[in-house]
Amino acid sequence: VLYSNTATMFEGVKYSLLIILASALLKTFTLWCLFTLILGRYLVRPLQELTQIVSAVQGNSITSSSLTSLSDKKGNDELSVLQLAFHKMLTRLEEANNHIAATNQSLHQEVSAKQLAMEEVRVLNEKLESRVLERTEKLDESENFMHQLVESIPNPVFYKGLNGRYDMVNDAFKEEFDLQGAVYGTEANFVDADFLQDISITDEEKRDRKVISCQESMSYEVSLKDHCGKLHELLISKAPMLDAAADCLGVVGMMMNIQERKMLERELRTFATIDALTECYNRRYFLEQSGKETSRGCRHGYVQALLYLDIDHFKKVNDKYGHQVGDRVLVQFAVECKTLLRDGDIIGRLGGEEFAVLLPHTSMEAAIHVAERLRQRIESMEVKAREIVKVTTSIGISALGDGIDLEESIRRADTALYVAKSAGRNQVKCFQESNEY
Ligand code: GH3
Ligand code: MG
Ligand code: MG
Repeated sequence: VLYSNTATMFEGVKYSLLIILASALLKTFTLWCLFTLILGRYLVRPLQELTQIVSAVQGNSITSSSLTSLSDKKGNDELSVLQLAFHKMLTRLEEANNHIAATNQSLHQEVSAKQLAMEEVRVLNEKLESRVLERTEKLDESENFMHQLVESIPNPVFYKGLNGRYDMVNDAFKEEFDLQGAVYGTEANFVDADFLQDISITDEEKRDRKVISCQESMSYEVSLKDHCGKLHELLISKAPMLDAAADCLGVVGMMMNIQERKMLERELRTFATIDALTECYNRRYFLEQSGKETSRGCRHGYVQALLYLDIDHFKKVNDKYGHQVGDRVLVQFAVECKTLLRDGDIIGRLGGEEFAVLLPHTSMEAAIHVAERLRQRIESMEVKAREIVKVTTSIGISALGDGIDLEESIRRADTALYVAKSAGRNQVKCFQESNEY
């Protein structure tokens, strides 16, 4: 039957092929399902889990549960080994992550604390800066004030360092020593030798050293000679400049020009000691100087004598030629006497036309000799007026010493003078006890 005809045979082959095809398809499908099931269970799922974990690692959201799911896997296949390795790695990562988080937190806290501290420092710094600014302004003000103060002092003021250099001088100082101009500039930086003569420097240096070493102030009057030879009569006050530790930094000083005062003093001294008309010592100064000399003579035991001179009939000269001519006679009289006397002799105008001369180291004999020469010189003296005026003088002499003081000696010489006048004037007489009455 089967091979009954070709058509039937082909029909049979066709169905056989269909059945074969169907069974192949069924097998393939079954195999595919099985493959998919196995692949899904043993490869895709673990890989998905891994991918999730990796994604979690990337997203920084690893949790302990996700790690536990990895550690649950048991088996010897490569995936399990990989999962286990991943599990270990992730455990470490989580630990590290936790550690980093903890460190991060403490760092964060530290940073916050530091930021806080920095903020405080910044605020403090700002305060400090403003205070420094304030102080600097005050310092500038104070420096300016000090500068103005020193400059407004009309007297020369200076500050000299330990090396002897002037670090500061005011305008009055520059003016006093003519230090203005380009030579010294605005900054004071010069030494005494730049404007004073050597003779003035030595003493100043000594005084500076004393102020520095004794740390004591001093005031003194001095005449300083500058380079031009100009004399500066000054009253200088110097004091040591000390730092907080009481170490000496230099010398600060102030000067006062006392030139006028000195001149006045000299004039006053002259007025007080010298007779303006004859330029002999006046009575007071003659007595003072002669008193000193007499005491010296008594101490050393040398002889001394005193002359008392009186111009004869001087009133007549005034009456005849006038007071002015009388004055000229007095002046000429003094000149003649001084010319004849020695340096150590002391001549004074005791009043009117009366003069006294103290002769140190002079015996009575020598004194008579001097007096006689004086008398002769006055006798020959000529004063030119409308006619030649001539005068004479009477002289009384007395010794000094042996208990006879200056006062007594003057009294005795005056007595002797009276004797000379009585004897006819133009004479020299020595005091004798018999003269007393
Ligand atoms: P004697 O010989 O006795 O000393 O006579 P005298 O005239 O010199 O003495 P007296 O004491 O009578 O006269 C002194 C005169 O000296 C009187 C006075 O006018 C004068 N005289 C005193 N001082 C000065 C003076 O400074 N200048 C002038 N020109 N005359 C003076
Ligand atoms: Mg007289
Ligand atoms: Mg007289």
